[in-house]
Parts: sequence; structure tokens; C-alpha cells
Amino acid sequence: MSISLAPLNTFGLKQNCSALVRVVTKSELTTACRLLYSEQVPMLILGGGSNLVFTTDYQGTVVSVETKGIKITTDDDYYYVNAQAGENWHSLVEFCLANNINGLENMALIPGTVGAAPIQNIGAYGIEFNRFCQDVEFLRLDTNELVVFSNEQCRFGYRESIFKQELKHLAVITEVTLKLPKQWLPILEYGPLQHLDPSTVTAQQIFDCVCQVRKSKLPDPSLLGNVGSFFKNPIVSLSQFIALKQRFPSIVAFKQADEQYKLAAGWLIDQAGLKGFQIGGAAVHKDQALVLVNTGQATGEDVCQLARYIIDVIYDLFDVTLHVEPRIIGPEGEIEIK
Ligand SMILES: Cc1cc2nc3c(=O)[nH]c(=O)nc-3n(C[C@H](O)[C@H](O)[C@H](O)COP(=O)(O)OP(=O)(O)OC[C@H]3O[C@@H](n4cnc5c(N)ncnc54)[C@H](O)[C@@H]3O)c2cc1C
Repeated sequence: MSISLAPLNTFGLKQNCSALVRVVTKSELTTACRLLYSEQVPMLILGGGSNLVFTTDYQGTVVSVETKGIKITTDDDYYYVNAQAGENWHSLVEFCLANNINGLENMALIPGTVGAAPIQNIGAYGIEFNRFCQDVEFLRLDTNELVVFSNEQCRFGYRESIFKQELKHLAVITEVTLKLPKQWLPILEYGPLQHLDPSTVTAQQIFDCVCQVRKSKLPDPSLLGNVGSFFKNPIVSLSQFIALKQRFPSIVAFKQADEQYKLAAGWLIDQAGLKGFQIGGAAVHKDQALVLVNTGQATGEDVCQLARYIIDVIYDLFDVTLHVEPRIIGPEGEIEIK
């Protein structure tokens, strides 16, 4: 049997999988994953499909995580928000705001599920998931145990965590607990938020501003398939940054804590003249160089060829290697772009 994945991935790639299991409770999720793992059936855990590129039909079972539930507890200083993996991230941000729990507003409108948020440590407008993560519960497939990792144990980094490293393909995230201080501090460093007055601004105003900016900047996947930023912003050494700055005085970069510099990958791609560049049905967005889009009939192969081409051009021009942000899925699991 073959099931279409087209409605289940925001790039709108028309690939199929051999089987699809929808799970709505934690017990269904863990039971399904334990069984598939023990029978050595290739399995892909699917959230909102907003960070996946299917290059071909998937010869395995896709487990769609649709578990729901949010619980709030408090102590004197904090709110603790526990959410099941299948909750929609943006709905959780809205839910918190509606309950006067502030802090997540900068991360409004990031597509996808709560369970996927720790994996690449989602972030936007100056805040990353790890800032408020208390712990992450997951089913560890190789030991068959339900484990809880503290924030520190998750080893979060820029679009990184242990779930993309040592525990890659071994952890099925079941729920997440966030710890949000009752004493709220607005985070307004990021460009479009800088005009807001920190002494009077409300979390709702930040939320509204973030939503408005995101809607005006990023293509809506329901109209133009995409997975958001296709490449991570590359991090280079101070000496490499100085050399680049001499050659390209207007280069956009952000100083990191450890004397390194994060380059704006979108600037590099734009500078290379690749906005609007197209291979097959896949194209660099005409306004947002960091976003690759499906012009209608893109295949996974088109997307990979376009990504490879961009990586090569940027390397030749700037001597900088771009790394792909979404997960690239081959016939039986994750693959690298060749
Ligand atoms: C328009 C747009 C804008 C975006 N903007 C941002 C942004 O501002 N910041 C940002 O960080 N990201 C952004 N993204 C990327 C995306 O929203 C995030 O990566 C998100 O966390 C993906 O969630 P998902 O549920 O869709 O994951 P999926 O795409 O379904 O899965 C992604 C990966 O996580 C795995 N996975 C999913 N759920 C689980 C689970 N419960 N347990 C174990 N593994 C799991 C999958 O197997 C896969 O490897 C954007 C994407 C789009 C389309």
C-alpha cells in the first residue's frame, strides 16, 4: 500500500510512504514505535512536516505524532508548562499568552509541533527554545526506556541538540516541560522589535509584531511550499571573518560569545546573485534568499540539486560551507545531500 505524503510536508513534495500510523495518545506513540523498532521496520517520526524534504518515496512507516495535552503548574517564581509532543507549537505560544504566561512570544508562528522543537532547538527573534526548556521526555528506542533529560543533558546549541547527535534516530520525544519566569522580561534586540519600548511593551504586542513581520517576510507554505530557512547561518573564526570583511565590506555577520562570527547565509546567497534561481520546480525565493520554494511541481531531486548548487557557489565565492537545516529523507531514512 502506498500513502501520499504531499499533505504532510510543507514543501508539498509529492512522495509516498509504505504505511502511515497516526497516534493520538502517548501510549499509542510509544507502543507503535517500540513495535516498529523491534521489528526493524524503517520508521520516520513526523510532526508538522515543516523541516523535512522527501527526496523519493519512503519505504517504511511514518508515525504521525498527534498527541495532545497541556498542563500548567506554578511555584512562587515560575510557571511550568508541560505539553505533549503533538501539540502545535504556535498554538502553545497562543495558549500561554492567553493564560498570562509570557516569554514565548518571540517564537510565535514557527510551524510544527512541540515534540520537534527541542530537536533543532528552534529559535527566532532573539530567543531559542532552550532558554525556557526545563526538561524533555523521550522514548529511548535502543534501551526501550522512557527517559527525562534536563536542559543541560539536551546539549542545546544553534539549531542543535543531542537529538541530532548521539541520540539521532534513537529518541522519540513524548513531552516537553517549559519553565517560564513569572517576572517577564521583553527581548527586543532583534531588528524588527527594536522600535518597541521595553518599559511599556506587552508580550501581546511583541507577539503581534512578530506575527506581522513573519507574515510579510516568509512565504506561506500553504501557498508556496517551503521549509523556512534552508541553510543554517555559518559560523566562522575571527580571522576568516576579518578576511571576508576586507573583500566584502557590507557582509552581514553577528559576533558570537566565543570570538566567532555567525554569517547571514541569506546575505551570502543574495550576494551570489541567486535570488530567484531555479532548478526544475525548486527555486530560491525571489525576496528571501535563505528560503527555497516549490514553484508547483518540484521533486525532491530538484530541491537537492538546487541546494547542492548553492552550497558549491557559496564555497567558491566565499570559501564558506553552508549546511542544510531541514532533514533530507531518502528511501529508508535520513540522507546527506550529495
Ligand atoms: C515557513 C517556515 C518558517 C520556519 N521558521 C522557523 C524559525 O523561525 N525557527 C526555526 O527554528 N525553525 C523554523 N522553521 C522550521 C520548522 O518550523 C522547525 O524545524 C520545527 O521544529 C519543525 O517541526 P515539525 O513538527 O514540523 O517537524 P517535522 O518536520 O515533522 O520533523 C523534523 C524532524 O524532527 C523529527 N521529529 C519530529 N517530531 C519528533 C518527535 N516527537 N520525536 C522525535 N523526532 C521527531 C522528524 O523525524 C524529523 O527528523 C520554519 C519552517 C517553515 C516552513
